[in-house]
Amino acid sequence: MTTLQTAVFDTKPYDRESLQRAASNGEIEWRFVDWRLSAETAAAAQGAQAICIFVNDRADRACLEALASLDVKHIALRCAGYNGVDIAAATELGLSVTRVPAYSPYAVAEHAVALLLALNRKIPRASNRVHDLNFSLNGLVGFDLHGKTAGILGTGRIGRVAAQILRGFGMKVLAFDVVPSHEWAKEYGVIYTDAQTLARECEVISLHTPLTPETYHIIRRETLELMKPGTILINVSRGALIDTKALIAALKSGRLGGVGLDVYEEEEGVFFEDLSGQILQDDELARLLTFPNVLITAHLAFLTREAVAEIARVTVANLVAFATGQPFLPGTTLNAQSQLQ
Ligand code: NAD
Repeated sequence: MTTLQTAVFDTKPYDRESLQRAASNGEIEWRFVDWRLSAETAAAAQGAQAICIFVNDRADRACLEALASLDVKHIALRCAGYNGVDIAAATELGLSVTRVPAYSPYAVAEHAVALLLALNRKIPRASNRVHDLNFSLNGLVGFDLHGKTAGILGTGRIGRVAAQILRGFGMKVLAFDVVPSHEWAKEYGVIYTDAQTLARECEVISLHTPLTPETYHIIRRETLELMKPGTILINVSRGALIDTKALIAALKSGRLGGVGLDVYEEEEGVFFEDLSGQILQDDELARLLTFPNVLITAHLAFLTREAVAEIARVTVANLVAFATGQPFLPGTTLNAQSQLQ
């Protein structure tokens, strides 16, 4: 049996555990490194035929050229979003790229709803108070979700699950997508509308589009100004969907009811790291952390047992397929194998 040498960048303990468990027959020789991939760190892939990367690794053209010069031939993304990889350059350089398009939309959608509930019912503040033996309820009034209107921007796998959960709460759900799913909307009583109406009419807005040139800063000053006073905005997709400066201005004005973020525009180098004891250098993140109605988690919406196991299963299956010259799992390739021949 041939053993595929694979360099795994930005490794966390759960990656190591889940990947090793998914490849328990010794078909892959893992080289786990803690740091992120970039043109500067690509040399760590020396001797590997494949690499495995995550959301904040940066495979731009310079990095891909460095990888190609080391004879790396395959990139297995262990995530869905692929905005960090220059796919055209990878194809040109003969590197195949796969991702894990759908591991558990429930994990991500449920986290969006967790942020919404925690913000609306002020759970972190209420819990902190109780630990301080402060049992007062002042300032902790939320609102019923039942009967309110939620807006889902992007009704792909995750957005649809989020919409269904919110329908379960008895919310009216408006949605906007460039490729609407009319059958699904009919089945779950979701109403498609345009992006402006969605921004204007909802008490809760949750973002579920990928980051593309079209969706970059899709939430900016003009969009925020359309929103009703008190709107709760949730982003578990990609940080750069929101213009952070405009968000801070809207929060300072007191118009927004709450903001729940699992992703942040400048999260690279901050999220996933233990920086406790250090001085935070990002002034915008520091400002966001001062608002009592902002709740931030560090890109963990995907982090359920089921999702991590599925990510590892698909990643390993594709690495083995690459090693044995078999087709990749359907729907996981970002550049068709035929393009590389
Ligand atoms: P998907 O491809 O199934 O759905 C994305 C939807 O967005 C599609 O329906 C698409 O038509 C729509 N869309 C694209 N461009 C649009 C635009 N300009 N305006 C409106 N709609 C647009 O993707 P998914 O599996 O639902 O994932 C969505 C995103 O969630 C991913 O791209 C990723 O960035 C993010 N994500 C985050 C985490 C996390 O841990 N926080 C985990 C997984 C995915």
